Order: sequence, then structure tokens, then C-alpha cells
Amino acid sequence: MGAIAAALQACQNRIASACQEAGRPANCARLIAVGKTFPAAALREAHAAGQRVFGESYLQEALPKLEQLADLPLEWHFIGPVQSNKTRQIAARFDWVHGIEREKIAQRLSEQRPANLPPLNVCIQVNVSAEASKSGVAPEAALELAGAIAVLPNLRLRGFMTIPEPTQDIELQHRRFRQAAELLQTARTTLGVSAIDLDTLSMGMSADLEAAIHEGATLVRVGTAIFGARPTMENNTLEQAR
Ligand SMILES: *Cc1c(COP(=O)(O)O)cnc(C)c1O
Repeated sequence: MGAIAAALQACQNRIASACQEAGRPANCARLIAVGKTFPAAALREAHAAGQRVFGESYLQEALPKLEQLADLPLEWHFIGPVQSNKTRQIAARFDWVHGIEREKIAQRLSEQRPANLPPLNVCIQVNVSAEASKSGVAPEAALELAGAIAVLPNLRLRGFMTIPEPTQDIELQHRRFRQAAELLQTARTTLGVSAIDLDTLSMGMSADLEAAIHEGATLVRVGTAIFGARPTMENNTLEQAR
């Protein structure tokens, strides 16, 4: 078995044990393999090992990879920050967008979603660790944004995404993820929708997926634990990749 196949297997095992320990069904959280900075060949290897769902953060880096993998039936998640000049391509190429922070961006994605494709699945990014991170909307603002997005015709609001500050403090990890889970519950009540319509908590990465699953994650986004450590990109290279 190749290194990527073995790492994927280990990751699926972590997810299965975490689901079991949380008293949730064995397949309670789907795995998004985050391939940013890794070549299409690495993703193809993951596909050969059974992986179908992939995440990318930088549009310019992602587009050629999507082209190179167009022969495979993959589900693509855009998980990076969405700039308004990138919405057209994101709306055309991806199945999901996780980092929605502004109504304006959501409107553009809805307007630009090609008519022949199903509605674009979206998650609102919430900032559950306000002091430590700048990405995402404040929990207080998330419900209003959810209401505005829920009515956009070509988007399907699925739930919330969050990236808490990295910490070794397991209690803190749990507290942050729990806050996102409670917010999803509140959003269901406020919007008057069922758990079927608002079914997604995108949270948990290589270092904290157990805590996230324990608190209700339905999608975990894992890069390092599958593909290995990412090369540190020079800042200017990173800017170009976005
Ligand atoms: C890179 C990235 C991940 C994967 O992080 P790892 O720690 O490598 O598992 C998950 N989510 C987002 C939004 C990312 O940008």
C-alpha cells in the first residue's frame, strides 16, 4: 500500500473511532482530503485509494488541478477565503464553498452559479475564537447572514464552518466546536428549518478532528495527516496562488 493510501486508511480509522466514542454512527463525519500545495498526482493517488471528496484553498493553484483530474468523479470543496473577483470561477467549478463571510459574496455566487448545475452548497464561516482569529463572522452576526443566504435561489445553505485557534488544550477545542454546534441548533430554530436542511458542521482538521467529531462535526477537512507536511510557501507565492 502506498503512503497516501495508508494515511487515508489511518485517517478513516481515526474518524470511525471518534464517531464511535461520541456515540454517533460510524460514518457520521465525511472526510474532505485537503490537497492544497500538493500536485494532482497525489490527489489521483488518494482517489485510487477510494477518496472522492477534495478540498482546495487557493483558486489559482486549484484550477489546473481540477483540469488535470477532470476525468475523475470527484466532489470539490472550496475551503479558502473567497475574494469577490474569484466568485465566477468558484461558482462554476466547485460543489461546495465553506468560507462565506459576507452577503455580497453569497449573492455573487448565487448569480454566477451556472443554470445547468444544482445549487451550490455553502457554509457560513463563524469565528468562535474572536480574540485569536480574524476569519469568519461573529456568532451574533451569523444568524442574520444565514437568513439572507437561505433565500438566495442558486445556493443551498448547509450550515457552518469554523477554524478555531490551534491549541493543545483539549477542553478548549471542545468548547469552541460546541459553540459552533449550538449556533447551528439556534439557526435551525430561528430559520424554522429542519436538521435535514441545515445538516452541516464543517470543523476539525488533522490536529483536532476527534474533538470536532465529538461535538457534532459532519465534515472534517484533513490535509497534513493524509498528504504530509506542506511546504511553507513564500508569501508572494501564496498571494499568487490565491
Ligand atoms: C489547510 C486547511 C485544512 C487542512 O489542515 P491540516 O491541518 O493540514 O489538516 C483544513 N481547513 C482549511 C480551511 C485549510 O485551509
